[in-house]
Amino acid sequence: MPRTLLCLLVALPVTLAAQSPPAGGWPIHSLNRPRPPVVHPGGPAVVPPPADAVVLFDGRTLDQWRSDEDSAAAAPWKIIDGAVEVVPGSGGIHTATPFGDVQLHLEWMSPTPVVGEGQNRGNSGVFLMGTYEVQVLDSWENTTYADGQAAALYGQFPPEVNASLPPASWQSYDIIFRRPRFAADGSVTQPARMTVFHNGVLVQDHVALLGPTSHMVRTPYARHPDRLPLGLQDHGTPVRFRNIWIRPLGPRP
Ligand code: MG
Repeated sequence: MPRTLLCLLVALPVTLAAQSPPAGGWPIHSLNRPRPPVVHPGGPAVVPPPADAVVLFDGRTLDQWRSDEDSAAAAPWKIIDGAVEVVPGSGGIHTATPFGDVQLHLEWMSPTPVVGEGQNRGNSGVFLMGTYEVQVLDSWENTTYADGQAAALYGQFPPEVNASLPPASWQSYDIIFRRPRFAADGSVTQPARMTVFHNGVLVQDHVALLGPTSHMVRTPYARHPDRLPLGLQDHGTPVRFRNIWIRPLGPRP
């Protein structure tokens, strides 16, 4: 092995570790981090919208969504069989309405035939406030770093278990999100918190996020508005979504 390459390989984990405060003691995307045990769920939790929910996608229209490439433009994804499908390369989409603390329900499906592996198999993401990602990935018999598999808080916390269903199955996320609170000087008084059920199974339990989720490096909190749009990611694979609804939450009692 050339000496320069060897130096790079030796230096890389040190550099990443230096930039990335550990979550539970683990550097970001560590391949040594234990993978959560597999728990076969009974099926997706298909929950119709309650009366006070804002229906973001009912299978018929993307009126509630905009293009990440141009917020004035309609969402460029396509509707097929009552689902919205990512159009690879078209960019992500986000809601026209901004949200803060919410309960969110959605269902998603990984594409078939299965193409790629690791992070390149059925990758998308649910971005609370456009900033905090719950990973969407085909994690059925598909190995990747633990903090990047389905229902991970990307780059920070793996799910407690892998409750994935096979590709071409509908899967559900039920998410309770509390936005971070900032002091007037921009410092964090309360971190963002996330609770996630994957196919009805608890996988994130009131977890305090370390900051915005990102790739390769953990970035610190930066003060942002109390409400921001919800985003869905175009990661180059035609993942489908359906039955997306959201309930803005009042302050915690
Ligand atoms: Mg993703």
